[in-house]
Amino acid sequence: MQSLRHVVLLFLLFTIVACQILVFPALATPTPLPPSTLTASGTTTLSQTSTGTATDTPPPTLTFTPVPQVRRVLILSIDGLRPEAISLAPMPNLLNFMQTSAYTLNAQTIRPSVTLPSHASMLTGYCPSDHRVDWNDYIPERGYALGTDLFDTAHAAGLETWMVVGKRKLEQVTEPSSLTDFIYVADRDLVVTERLLSEFPENFGVLFVHFATPDGMGHQYGWLSTEQLSVVFRADEAFGQILAALDARNLRSETLIIVTADHGGHDTSHGSSMPEDMTIPWIASGPGIRPGPLTTTVHTMDTAATAAFALGLEPPSDWDGVPVVEAFGLPIEEISSQCE
Ligand SMILES: [Zn+2]
Repeated sequence: MQSLRHVVLLFLLFTIVACQILVFPALATPTPLPPSTLTASGTTTLSQTSTGTATDTPPPTLTFTPVPQVRRVLILSIDGLRPEAISLAPMPNLLNFMQTSAYTLNAQTIRPSVTLPSHASMLTGYCPSDHRVDWNDYIPERGYALGTDLFDTAHAAGLETWMVVGKRKLEQVTEPSSLTDFIYVADRDLVVTERLLSEFPENFGVLFVHFATPDGMGHQYGWLSTEQLSVVFRADEAFGQILAALDARNLRSETLIIVTADHGGHDTSHGSSMPEDMTIPWIASGPGIRPGPLTTTVHTMDTAATAAFALGLEPPSDWDGVPVVEAFGLPIEEISSQCE
């Protein structure tokens, strides 16, 4: 009887252990260790599980993530985009893009806050007193913005430089010899984008894209009106298509993208020194960017300087704009100031 009881007890014990292994397979198979991680000092640390059996695992393989490099810059200017419109329209693609962006919704344009002088400052890096564009119409006989601009600098370095715009007067920002191509499409933002995508410049170094429709609707129906916000929503749809085109070509990881505007607006106008006219968004995402809000005041001339900095181009020493290095997580050594 005694030995039969032992056999029954042993059987029960065996059954309990077998059930535990079925329920908790980790007891039966050793847990693999997580891959090693590389610390800042260049030494490896090996995380151990609670089982602590690190002795018979092979030595960890070190993998270094290469430093991301900006090989291209895409600047999108949404004409007359007040920062408030981003959430009011809303602009889901831009809002999503901001998650990985360094940004400020309090960047400042130049005075007067009008299209051609503002874009000239955005893309030349100069204050109006230096680039001398004091007109706001297409007047070919007035020539081009003075000084060495972003396109001059990039083109001289052998990069392809493109402008795809919704207003012809932007042709006067830089000389044709500094552009691979200038494409003017007198149509809605989605049509401008359709044209851009139909002949997408796969090898661009600097690509400037300009959406004109929000400004036109602002003049017609008022800034932040329902009508303007509806075309801002369309501009965002077009922006999403451009991002998808970059993704489809695997270009996104090497492209710095800056989304900004030339001015804001109030009532059905702009051009004044009012905050509603002067305040613009400045949103940058790409390799090396540290996401989050910027503390420095960004001026529109900083766009050219940041693009040149990211591409490793030597900027002209007389530029008024400075690179927004804070966007790359670097210490702020110099900031731009409002133009006279
Ligand atoms: Zn404008």
